[in-house]
Amino acid sequence: LLNNHKEIQTNLKFKKHFQANTSGTSGESLKFKREESADSFNRASIYRGYSWYNVNPWELNGYFWGYNFSERAMLKIRILDSLQNRFRIFNYRKESIDFFIKKLKNAKYLHGYSSMVYETAKIINSQNLEKPLNLKMVKGTSEKIFESYQDEIQKAFGQRMISEYGAAETGIMAFECPKGNMHLNMEGVIVEEIDHEIVVTNLQMHAFPIIRYQLGDYIKLAPKTATCECGMQHAIIEEVTGRIGQTVYGKNNTYPSLYFYYIFKNLASKQSFLLTYQVVQNEKGKLNFLIEQPLNSKQLLHLEHEIVVYFKEDMEFKIEHSQPITAQNKKLKSFISNIA
Ligand SMILES: [Zn+2]
Repeated sequence: LLNNHKEIQTNLKFKKHFQANTSGTSGESLKFKREESADSFNRASIYRGYSWYNVNPWELNGYFWGYNFSERAMLKIRILDSLQNRFRIFNYRKESIDFFIKKLKNAKYLHGYSSMVYETAKIINSQNLEKPLNLKMVKGTSEKIFESYQDEIQKAFGQRMISEYGAAETGIMAFECPKGNMHLNMEGVIVEEIDHEIVVTNLQMHAFPIIRYQLGDYIKLAPKTATCECGMQHAIIEEVTGRIGQTVYGKNNTYPSLYFYYIFKNLASKQSFLLTYQVVQNEKGKLNFLIEQPLNSKQLLHLEHEIVVYFKEDMEFKIEHSQPITAQNKKLKSFISNIA
């Protein structure tokens, strides 16, 4: 998309269009035009998801996003936020958190980076702060939602965090229903699973058409016969398993980063450990596993065992537990490779 975006961008004329941006996995951002009708359709698709929780988009909401802003940028953001009846947290300083939690009392929904929602839930629980009682929906986007988040979130906000799956290039692809299934936005996109990989066609965007686009996520679609208790007929996406294309380097071989997903999934299913993790590679043949939770020696052994199952003798690794990885004030990536 980056290399050919000029050719993809249509020369059709639209009454009105917007500039859209994506940060892109490569770090390079892609700019493209999206016509007003496609943009509105996309927003309506998201708001349909909200309606399943009786949430109206104009209701007061708390918002979590990255926040390395200058004073000037912050002022602009505050004005834009207030137009959308939205407030956000800019840092984890005590006065900011107190202010945010006070505002939460009247909020109807919360959304944004899942690691930040989780971090705030932990603060509410550990400091015994007043819990917001009026929330109808807590939604995580843009980051992996670790199952290990859900206990704290349930305790702080009285409900599980639900998931929305979308990308700037493709629009919204799925939204979780109150029965816990991710329903495809079938009126807006065609989603195919080919070799475990998602292939997306957007049905609205003509200014910058997206046709059978390999977005770069591994997914698992539910069988066509699967049904949901909520009664909706929309197909179900069982799982977004991870990003494609990041290579893990052993001493002799290379491995897909999806291995980390399996290692921690095995621990969850065999040992019922729900861990929040971040794996960092700075050198070939070596990995650093950062784990948020404290681990005892037995749990460490189980984790070591699972790592060896996948990487055998080809990888040295270090496990550091009790790491504050969700409090980094930025998007939490489950694998970071610093190998060029
Ligand atoms: Zn459902």
